[in-house]
Amino acid sequence: MQLVVCPGSFDPIHNGHVDIITRAAKIYGSVLVAVSHNSAKTYRFSLQERLALAEETFAPFAGVKVVALPEGQLLADFVRESGSVLMLKGLRNSSDLDYEAPMASMNRHLSGVETCFLASDPLYSQLSSTLVKDVARFGGDLAPFVPLPVLRALGQDAA
Ligand code: ADP
Repeated sequence: MQLVVCPGSFDPIHNGHVDIITRAAKIYGSVLVAVSHNSAKTYRFSLQERLALAEETFAPFAGVKVVALPEGQLLADFVRESGSVLMLKGLRNSSDLDYEAPMASMNRHLSGVETCFLASDPLYSQLSSTLVKDVARFGGDLAPFVPLPVLRALGQDAA
């Protein structure tokens, strides 16, 4: 069993994230979901809310743990210090790759941490947290795209 880190702001977590993280858990055995927070940024959900939503979502998955990424710490250092073998990200399209490739290269130079990518499931390759928030604002049905805790937090309780 190996540990990998899946970082992101998860504002909020959606089924594209869940798909990548659960596939990573199947491959590596253990995943640390690292929820980032940047006080200069505006979020829809607070760090505590984003952590709670991810924790509730992954409660049934023994191999997945959710933590806050310490603000101000280099992600590459966090990954190395956590004992993870690598950081893992999802790729939706070539824009994601263009954005991620320089960070992957820099992180490897900074602390020897490698980044691996899993291709997004085509079901979710157009999905983003921004789109989820936009659709939620206008009352669109998000049940196929977000886990139940997020659906509830967006005021769309299916129960
Ligand atoms: P950010 O790190 O920019 O805050 P997110 O929190 O949305 O981004 O995403 C965290 C990680 O999940 C990133 O690696 C991102 O590429 C990946 N990701 C985001 N949306 C999807 C999706 N629909 N399918 C697969 N991976 C995704």
